[in-house]
Formats: sequence, C-alpha cells, structure tokens
Amino acid sequence: MERMTSPKNIPSPAVSASAANDAKTTTAPKSRTAEARSAARRPAQVMPATEGWDQAKNPEGRPLLQFKSPRVSQPPVHLADMTLPEREARFKEMGLPAFRAKQLSVHYFQHYTTDPERMSDLPKDRRTEITETMFPKLLTEIKRLTTDNGDTVKFLWRLFDGSLVESVLMRYPGRITLCVSSQCGCGMNCPFCATGQAGLTRNMSTAEILDQIVQANRVIAEGGLGNLRRDGGHDADRVTNIVFMGMGEPLANYKRVMNAVHRMVAEAPEGLGMSARGITVSTVGLAPAIRKLAEEGVAITFALSLHAPDDELRDELIPVNDKWKVDEVLDAAYNYYKVTGRRVSIEYALIKDMNDHPWRAEMLAKKLNARGRGWVHVNPIPLNPTPGSIWTSSEPAVMAEFINTLIDLGVPTTLRDTRGKEIDGACGQLAAAE
Ligand code: SAH
Repeated sequence: MERMTSPKNIPSPAVSASAANDAKTTTAPKSRTAEARSAARRPAQVMPATEGWDQAKNPEGRPLLQFKSPRVSQPPVHLADMTLPEREARFKEMGLPAFRAKQLSVHYFQHYTTDPERMSDLPKDRRTEITETMFPKLLTEIKRLTTDNGDTVKFLWRLFDGSLVESVLMRYPGRITLCVSSQCGCGMNCPFCATGQAGLTRNMSTAEILDQIVQANRVIAEGGLGNLRRDGGHDADRVTNIVFMGMGEPLANYKRVMNAVHRMVAEAPEGLGMSARGITVSTVGLAPAIRKLAEEGVAITFALSLHAPDDELRDELIPVNDKWKVDEVLDAAYNYYKVTGRRVSIEYALIKDMNDHPWRAEMLAKKLNARGRGWVHVNPIPLNPTPGSIWTSSEPAVMAEFINTLIDLGVPTTLRDTRGKEIDGACGQLAAAE
C-alpha cells in the first residue's frame, strides 16, 4: 500500500530573495541590502504537500473531510455492546435467569474467554447457544509483530466485513498500555499520517473497540507480552492504560467510543473496571465534541493533536482546522480542564523546518498561558516516518530548543517516548495492510 507523503520545500519569499542575492554576490558583492541579510538568517519554512499518493479533495479543492462512514453496516450485536441490564433483558428473552448474564460477563471481562468448553457454571445444554448468540466473532487475528524484546506487540485484525484494523500493546514498568483503533481507516486526511491516506471505511462498534482490550488481556495472561521484571518491581498483568491513538478519529465516532469508555471503567462484571485517568482520548480537534466530552462525567485524559499554533500552517497540516480554528480548539481544551480538573495534553509531532521554529514554540506558550497556568502540558514527539516519506523529524538540537523554549516560558513539556517504529506500529504509522 502506498503511504508516502512528503513536504514540498517552498522557500519563503524572503529566502528566495536571499538565494537570488547570493547568486549575484560573485558579480556584485556590495548589492546585499540589510533586509536581504536579515532574510538570509530567517529559517526555511517547509509547507506540507503530498507525494506518491493523491489526497482526496472536496469541490473547493480543500482536503476532503469524512464525518459520515461510507459503510453503515455494523457487526452483529455482542455482549460488550450492552449494559448489564440490557444483557439481563436479552437473557430473559432466551428464557434464562438474569444471573446467567452476570456469569457470562465474568467469563468475558474477567477471564477473557468466549469458549463454551470453559464455562462449566453454565447449563451444559445451552452453553453453545449462549456463546454463539452473545459472542459473534468480531476480531480475527491476521498478523502479530513483536519488537522491543517482546515488550511491544502489534496486532492486525480482520473484522466481520473484511475491514482491517490494528492495535499496539506495550509493556512498561508497572503498567501496560494498549493503543486502540476506533474507526476502520480515518476521514480526517492529515497528510503526515498513514491511516488517513485510504480514507474512512466505517465506524467500529463499541464491542469491536472493547474486544481489542479483551483479546490483548488474553494474550498477556498467556504470557505473550515481554519478559517480566527481575528486580522485584511490580508488573501489570492486564492492560492498565488505553490510548485512543490507533486508527481513526475517536470523536468522529462519538457514541460508540463513549459507550466503550463507560464499559472500560464500569466495575466487573459489567465492564473492565479500569481507572478513567488511565484512558486517553486523542483528537484532531472536533471542538463541539470536545465540549460534549467535558460533560460526560468520566475523568479520562484528553489529548489534542495540535501540531501547529498558527492557523496558516495548521490549515495545511490538520485539514479539520478548516472547520475549527486553533483558538476555538484551545478554548474547548481549556474548558475540558475547567470542567473536569484533568490536565490536558497537547500533542505536537516535530517536523523539520515545518513546525519546529522557536517562534512557534513562543506562540504556542503564549496561547496556552493566555488561558491559564497549570492546565496543560505539551508532549512533542519526533515525527515517525511513513514509508518513502521525505518529511523528516526535527534535528535533536532543534527539538531540544523547542522544548526548552516552552519550559522557559512556564509550560510543562516532555518529549514523548515512541514505540514500535520497527514494526510500523508507532503514532501515525498504522495503515492495516496484510
Ligand atoms: N485521530 C486522533 C488519534 C489518532 S493519531 C488524533 O489525531 O489525535 C494519534 C497521534 O499520532 C496524533 O497525535 C497524531 O497526530 C499523531 N501522528 C500521526 N502521524 C504521525 C507521525 N507520522 N509521526 C508522529 N505522530 C503522528
């Protein structure tokens, strides 16, 4: 699959002027004006452009945004799509007492099994019927790639309609993070992200989102994730953290994603009994949905993929900026903090000569500080390559300057650890090809 993107190096007029001037220096060295000299010191401005693939455009020639999924069909209803009372009602229809719904939920959410052979507490003559009704097969594992001495595992799943999605499981000391997908493909069309290049196929169902976690928990229980610590430190034995940073734009699939979040935090056996603060929803910046998220009453972590503090660049880097501008999404992010008390994360992929200029770090700090102090932290990440791409990550010294500028201006900033590059499992690399 073609996933190449590249920047078109458009020198700013000032830079071209100085280049022209340089060319002239051999014949007329004294012709350099003060203005041209200062222009020569101005850093290059690379603008986003696509190469090797065609970015879908709308009739106005702007990058196409897809909010509605072209494919509306959803997988058959699964136990994880339902609340516990809904499961009980379903069991009643099947002529089974309510407590059976709880037993089945324990098997799925606590033992990670859908195998009737392992359900000796259920009536023998109905086990197969119950599991076939409540556990239609949602995710079929197609491929598993491992790196970091087994501590990072990428799964490729085939869904009931042939759609492919990926999730990435990562063991860290004391915690295990799963990066989940929320849509098949993505409609947000960001030129530096591999997922967007094929567009959106459909929204994933609540149970398809949750089943990624249950399947990961099963793999962990079977010993399929990395080596345990030998220093006596605590090891997590199931997924403790979720990041909605796999394929898709979670806030464009709002209802199903939120149902999944509610089930992640629901006590077992209704759900997975996870801690809300360990769950991060990351978005390109759908402002109305961010405002709605603040009212959900679950204290999850909210992350905004900002990548540029100025609309001029962000319009090109994050096409949804056509609809909701930098200031509006920052206001929505700040409101999330005000309502929930949860500190917001700003994601910023550092791209060489595109968004890594010190003046952009200053502008970002200014915009964040204007809204308050202590409400936000910035998480820069070196841009991950997509195959064939000539967009490049910023130089280490430039990254350091960017980060230090933010810190000096009072904005907590930490470079994000990135995992899974070797298996195309890092941020922006998920494209789900066989
Ligand atoms: N659609 C959501 C979640 C998926 S992407 C969002 O955009 O926030 C998760 C993160 O990876 C986002 O911050 C995204 O901007 C970032 N990302 C995308 N492509 C990347 C790349 N090539 N290198 C580094 N980060 C990238």
